[in-house]
Amino acid sequence: MKKRYDYLIVGAGLFGAVFAREATDAGKTCLVIDRRPHIAGNIYTERVEGIEVHRYGAHIFHTSDRAVWDYLSRFVTFNRFTNSPLARYGDELYHLPFNMNTFHALWGVVTPAEAKEKIAAERAPYAGREPRNLEEQALSLVGRDVYEKLIKGYTEKQWGRSCTELPAFIIRRLPLRFTYDDNYFSDPLQGIPEEGYTALVERLLDGSDVELSRDYFADREALDEIADRVIFTGRIDEFYGAVFGRLAYRSLRFETETLDLPDFQGNAVVNYTSRDVPFTRIIEHKHFTFGKQPKTVVTREYPAAWREGEEPYYPVNDETNNALYARYAALAEKEPKVVFGGRLGLYRYLDMDKIVSEALALSRRLLREGN
Ligand code: FAD
Ligand code: UDP
Repeated sequence: MKKRYDYLIVGAGLFGAVFAREATDAGKTCLVIDRRPHIAGNIYTERVEGIEVHRYGAHIFHTSDRAVWDYLSRFVTFNRFTNSPLARYGDELYHLPFNMNTFHALWGVVTPAEAKEKIAAERAPYAGREPRNLEEQALSLVGRDVYEKLIKGYTEKQWGRSCTELPAFIIRRLPLRFTYDDNYFSDPLQGIPEEGYTALVERLLDGSDVELSRDYFADREALDEIADRVIFTGRIDEFYGAVFGRLAYRSLRFETETLDLPDFQGNAVVNYTSRDVPFTRIIEHKHFTFGKQPKTVVTREYPAAWREGEEPYYPVNDETNNALYARYAALAEKEPKVVFGGRLGLYRYLDMDKIVSEALALSRRLLREGN
């Protein structure tokens, strides 16, 4: 007789792992599978030369939700890392997010009043108009200098489209400050798990059975039989055989190398905002944990088109794709035993803290309902 489970969880990423922890603690049994050869999904970290390497891009935990912070702190200790990325445009270096340090370097202004005056003049032509695209949004927020040097090239590389064809909301979340505060995030709580994200997920999965390099679609019927309920955190369009057409994603390519020097760029994240440089950023992993190792590991991040078989890193939440997703979501609502979750199942760009609160909410709802 094959072992039976209360839950089959497809995807050993953060969403699946938090759900598994809650279900296990409530006395339920879970089988967690992942098609990748490791746990932790995109937050996977791996130790190289004593340095915790973020294999799928920089992951900085930040939140305004104290309950989520406390929840994760049961499993790992967060350090005091604060993200202060730099932007490199040719040989010029600027502070991010856009703040007084950036404006001083660009225009020589010193006080907030001077910076506001300069930006007001730059924004004037766009005042009182609803921006129709990302370019108009950027120009009306920060003016042409910042747009040309720090936004245009980076954004067009990242999304593979012209800023005039991109939705405005993408940059609305970028902070604009008139203080000398270089903290990229506005959330009061921020840090990196000292033991790495993989250790966090390992602890969340403790007590569950885990099978890696196992694809749900390769063995769908047998896997559905094995459990009373399925929590699916893969692509919702793939789940439905793309019957209405494929959802769009944006992919990335990472090039990682170990260098025989103690420090390459002096900062965890440096964005390359000019179009001429093919990558968008270089991350130097040791700086996430204030490492003093003799060597260093750096990763260049290249944006890439997404094709079937590639990792779907970002959902492309434009109108067309959101409408297509709504059709899949309507099918999902009628599923008797499958529930969708996570960034791919919900087709939403969710930061880690939102993933944790969504997974906690779902597990509490299902466990309360007794299934
Ligand atoms: P995933 O981590 O994608 O896990 C889903 C898992 O399901 C994957 O491991 C996949 O292999 C598996 N799977 C899919 N289909 C199948 C199948 N058919 N069979 C078996 N397994 C399957 N958030 C922050 O808060 N701060 C950051 O700084 C930050 N930086 C980011 C940088 C990048 C480059 C990216 C892409 C994301 C970043 N995020 C950040 C978001 C963060 O990665 C997500 O919030 C989190 O990883 C989502 O977890 P998840 O479990 O939903 O998805
Ligand atoms: N962005 C930019 N220049 C930068 C950093 C970000 O123009 O140096 C824009 C870009 O359009 C990006 C968006 O701001 O897609 C959101 O940036 P964030 O760093 O929040 O996104 P991430 O890629 O880390 O999810």
